[in-house]
Amino acid sequence: MTAQNLPSEPEFEQAYKELASTLENSTLFQKKPEYRKALQVVSVPERIVQFRVVWEDDAGNVQINRGFRVQFNSALGPYKGGLRFHPSVNLSILKFLGFEQIFKNALTGLNMGGGKGGSDFDPKGKSDNEIRRFCVAFMTELCKHIGQDTDVPAGDIGVTGREVGFMFGQYKKIRNQWEGVLTGKGGSWGGSLIRPEATGYGVVYYTEHMIKYASGGKESFAGKRVAISGSGNVAQYAALKVIELGGSVVSLSDSQGSLIINGEEGSFTEEEINQIAAIKVERKQISELASTAAFSSKFKYIPGARPWTNITGRIDVALPSATQNEVSGEEAKALIAAGCKFIAEGSNMGSTQEAIDVFEAHREANKGGEAIWYAPGKAANAGGVAVSGLEMAQNSARINWTREEVDNRLKNIMEDCFKNGLATAQEYVTPAEGSLPSLVAGSNIAGFTKVAEAMKDHGDWW
Ligand code: NDP
Repeated sequence: MTAQNLPSEPEFEQAYKELASTLENSTLFQKKPEYRKALQVVSVPERIVQFRVVWEDDAGNVQINRGFRVQFNSALGPYKGGLRFHPSVNLSILKFLGFEQIFKNALTGLNMGGGKGGSDFDPKGKSDNEIRRFCVAFMTELCKHIGQDTDVPAGDIGVTGREVGFMFGQYKKIRNQWEGVLTGKGGSWGGSLIRPEATGYGVVYYTEHMIKYASGGKESFAGKRVAISGSGNVAQYAALKVIELGGSVVSLSDSQGSLIINGEEGSFTEEEINQIAAIKVERKQISELASTAAFSSKFKYIPGARPWTNITGRIDVALPSATQNEVSGEEAKALIAAGCKFIAEGSNMGSTQEAIDVFEAHREANKGGEAIWYAPGKAANAGGVAVSGLEMAQNSARINWTREEVDNRLKNIMEDCFKNGLATAQEYVTPAEGSLPSLVAGSNIAGFTKVAEAMKDHGDWW
């Protein structure tokens, strides 16, 4: 990547370096030196759309936000990736997310390119009417640049089924077309069953393959203590699936603090997770529940902190599921010290590079402890976009699959994604004696080579 005359884009540069370093440290470029050129080409978005979003708040004031869509790569299919509404949104964050999305989508085995978009609009504290007016204004411009065969956005942080509905309605009005232009739609109007659950369930399905492989088929989620961050879409459904599979969920969090089980026993229950989900629909903080008698007797609430270093007792599995860079190098060491053997990211780029380095340095069982296994978001959280891909297929065929059908397809996709990363790591990275294969290197190489080959066929590089 040539960085001359370009503004600093820390998150994008981090995501690029993470991918590039794993390709460099494998035998890929020795076997196929021409892929260095492909890496240069794939790191520049095909197109970026930036626009003004002007809307009216409840007091009649003019409000202005920035809208973006990064159409990063269309080698494998229409651009595909979520929309994020959060005050921190900027081009660096959307380019990192779009870049990750290219390779994640490739790992699903479905025909989807990579993109990401959103706005610096903050949905917190806004009325439903304000959210509707914002979504309408946002889609009034975005609708000129997307379509079911061009670019198919979905939700991400701050964008739930409600926002998808408002945006879909505006697209339909302006374009006079009912088409599968967004995924994560409502069930009665083209949404797929299991789409809301897909990312969280998918992370857990993926992690279960890690646990089974590393234990020679002897272990599963049953009896495991699982630390989760976040309390939004991904965290909620990951937590529910962990409980269903017999594990204990010992933490959840939000942008204001962490809610953690008191002591070394116990788990969040399904009802408690449903209560958290209900307050999140109202865009409230978990601190509100933490102060109630039922929660304060069972949990400790730690304001302003992430869960990783605040859990009492053993941690077996960590599923970061809130936002990027939410596990630091020091926190990675603390997780390992607490016994954590499996880390799988529900969030995109949940771990800093320092944290990844700590996890990756512990893949060898004989290094004074048990082996630690890390799965990057682009593999572990691919279930969400995979079911979005299944939603596109159902929309195109004008049919609806059952929950069971979609869930089985999701399970198969997560299994293939795990096995693909594993086999590719075994092919391109020589592991140290007794070491588990690097899922980060394997997944990066598998996703990258698939996209690079398609781009070569299209004449994008030569
Ligand atoms: P939600 O908006 O539903 O939830 C986000 C959660 O993370 C909330 O608990 C939020 O807290 C917390 N959070 C947001 N920003 C920060 C921050 N800066 N610091 C600490 N906590 C924060 O989003 P999702 O659950 O959909 O997304 C979570 C992660 O998963 C993101 O990284 C997203 O890109 C990734 N992802 C999501 C997919 C999906 O299908 N939804 C698919 C693949 C990846 P609060 O409530 O206080 O805002």
